[in-house]
Amino acid sequence: MIRKSIKLALVFTIATIMFACKNEPKTEVKSSEVKVEEKAIDVKNLEHIRTKEDQDKLTPDVVLKKLKEGNERFRKGIETHRDHSEQVRNYESGQYPKAIVLGCIDSRVPVEDVFDQGIGDLFVGRVAGNVVNEDQLGSMEYACKVAGAKLVMVLGHEHCGAVKSAIDDVKLGNITALLTKIKPAILKSQDFTGEKTSKNEAFVKHVCENNVRNTIEQIRAKSPILKEMETKGQIKIVGAYFDLSDSSLEFVQ
Ligand SMILES: [Zn+2]
Repeated sequence: MIRKSIKLALVFTIATIMFACKNEPKTEVKSSEVKVEEKAIDVKNLEHIRTKEDQDKLTPDVVLKKLKEGNERFRKGIETHRDHSEQVRNYESGQYPKAIVLGCIDSRVPVEDVFDQGIGDLFVGRVAGNVVNEDQLGSMEYACKVAGAKLVMVLGHEHCGAVKSAIDDVKLGNITALLTKIKPAILKSQDFTGEKTSKNEAFVKHVCENNVRNTIEQIRAKSPILKEMETKGQIKIVGAYFDLSDSSLEFVQ
């Protein structure tokens, strides 16, 4: 008897849900659809670099402008609709990315999203604290000298745990060696007036920006290939700082 009443109650509940779904006001659905359309861009409306000739026409300044525009779309929450599977198929025969970005592994700074870029648009290298080593340099040289990218961007970010850990002199496994690559930025930041601890966000930002500058200095010092390409105006090497609070970029000079 009890089982029968539970069964009945269940049937009644399902029927109620079905009825409710059926009678959902259609106008509400429509208004939300319109809202999405207003905030979205079809990827077909964005210029795409599909051939070597397209890529050759780009200049470092044009690429930088495109990344700034992409960040602006991301910051404003304007979505670009992309069919990633279709894009992979389109680029199957080759890739002609515009830039290489060296970013941190931080999960809050997904590089392609931050610049509203899709498949085939960017090379991305990620390592905690966006520091550079031989492998990253080799990757950058491949991206620019071999594959034709026009811009190298080093991307630091707000609240960087790697930078904070370096300030705190954390020692743990292989993290210790990684953090030694950030330490020179702390030395460079001794001019900071105020509390020089990881609790002080202004200091962390100061170190983070100096860390981006150090990485750029090392790219120029340790890669004669990239240095020469920069001198000849074939590429630009720039630094930027990503603000987590409003998703904006500040360029680090
Ligand atoms: Zn980080």
